[in-house]
Amino acid sequence: MVDEEYTCIVCGKKFYPGQGIVLQRGSLRLFFHSSKCASKFFKMLLDRVDSSCINNAALVLIKDLEKSRAERGNKKVIA
Ligand SMILES: [Zn+2]
Repeated sequence: MVDEEYTCIVCGKKFYPGQGIVLQRGSLRLFFHSSKCASKFFKMLLDRVDSSCINNAALVLIKDLEKSRAERGNKKVIA
């Protein structure tokens, strides 16, 4: 049995399932052999996407992250 081999979309390096980062949203599948390549891709994506499309989603995400950080912080104080 041969495992499916993935190719990093940023640098072209091959990797196997369980390694690297694989993101799937519907028909979109993104393969990164490392978090470094993933962050490079998302930086490039941010440069290409119209800021009006991404600003709202990014701001909501930042708020959610802040909220979950605050919740974790509260739990630490309780514990
Ligand atoms: Zn890579």
